[in-house]
Amino acid sequence: MAVPDYEAKYLDDLDIMKFLEAEAVEFLLSSEGKVPLSSCQGKTICLFFSANWCRPCRTFIPHLVELHDTLRKRDKSLEIIFISFDRDEDGFNEHLKNMPWLAVPFDVTLHRRLIDRYRVDRIPSFIPLCSDGITVEEDMTGFIEDYGTEAFPFTRKRREELKAIDKRKREEASLEELLAHEGRNFLISADDRKVPVSELVGKTIGLYFCAYWSPPCRAFTVQLTEAYNNLVTVKDRGFEIVLVSTDRDLKEFKVNLNSMPWLAIPYEDRTRHDLCRIFDIKGIPALVLIGPDGKVITMNGKFIVSSYGAEAFPFTESRIRDLEAALRKEGEALPHQVEDVKHEHVLKLDMAKAYVCDFCKKQGRFWAFSCDVCDYDLHPSCVGMVKKDECFLQNTITATLQPEI
Ligand SMILES: [Zn+2]
Ligand SMILES: [Zn+2]
Repeated sequence: MAVPDYEAKYLDDLDIMKFLEAEAVEFLLSSEGKVPLSSCQGKTICLFFSANWCRPCRTFIPHLVELHDTLRKRDKSLEIIFISFDRDEDGFNEHLKNMPWLAVPFDVTLHRRLIDRYRVDRIPSFIPLCSDGITVEEDMTGFIEDYGTEAFPFTRKRREELKAIDKRKREEASLEELLAHEGRNFLISADDRKVPVSELVGKTIGLYFCAYWSPPCRAFTVQLTEAYNNLVTVKDRGFEIVLVSTDRDLKEFKVNLNSMPWLAIPYEDRTRHDLCRIFDIKGIPALVLIGPDGKVITMNGKFIVSSYGAEAFPFTESRIRDLEAALRKEGEALPHQVEDVKHEHVLKLDMAKAYVCDFCKKQGRFWAFSCDVCDYDLHPSCVGMVKKDECFLQNTITATLQPEI
């Protein structure tokens, strides 16, 4: 293992086992009973501070169990030692039932001393000891949640390595590297097709981070579907979308995917989690657009698609600039305000992201003639138009009001 980082926290010169011996601890506990302290010799030791009453601890334990089992299968010399924040022995025993690793026997005073010694200020805390057994790494809970077994041996050096790999993937990875792995080279669709990732190479790709439980996601899915259908079904523009679900369970994922005409990373696949981390997704919905050359065009695809729809394709900066220039020109050609027979107030030229025209009842975007007094909008093209039946009605009224000769 690496030389301890100079920033690592130094305690006294006792390693954990010597410290426990000095505290008159004779053995550790495992699910099979007592284990001598010497059994930890030569292993990568990680201290796990946790409590049964703490929900984040209970949520974290299944991740840690999975990681522990996988690393053990790979024959990694990992030893986790649980140190309890529980207030009573029942809680401690209950908590220990879920753990396939070792524990320091229940002793509130000793636990308090260990907590102080390792300066633990929150739980869960997962603190790997450096190879000298004395210096410690910082809490690696978040690191483990982010990288799973890849995080082993839980050192700062390992974390820097993994971050560098992520950075490279974000900047220059191929689609295969991003979306597939040794065990899976395909994506799935709602109608149970398996599409090889290689079929996506050379297309413009949207990675769509979304969950069905989120109303903004469901609303954006509708807009994105409209753009997708236009680009793929109508125009065959070499565009594909891949759902990276953040749904809470498989059932929800299936409902979500069923509302979409595009592809998805299978729900049970860790790639979903990796992509969220690589692209640093902080909120959903999010749409990362990747060009035919495999390079990220924009992380802000959601804004672009909700603003310009399919018109924005191929989503490049120059395309967006052209669209904006065309819009400005269109606005310059329109009057600042109009009077219209269909409405009693003056209508002013306005830029609206989306509206429904009160004349033709169709969706509108960008330029609108809107009323300041009431909620009334018209497409510029609908100004001055009179409905046929209204014309007819007006004529009839005029006719009836004509004095009879
Ligand atoms: Zn209209
Ligand atoms: Zn009005």
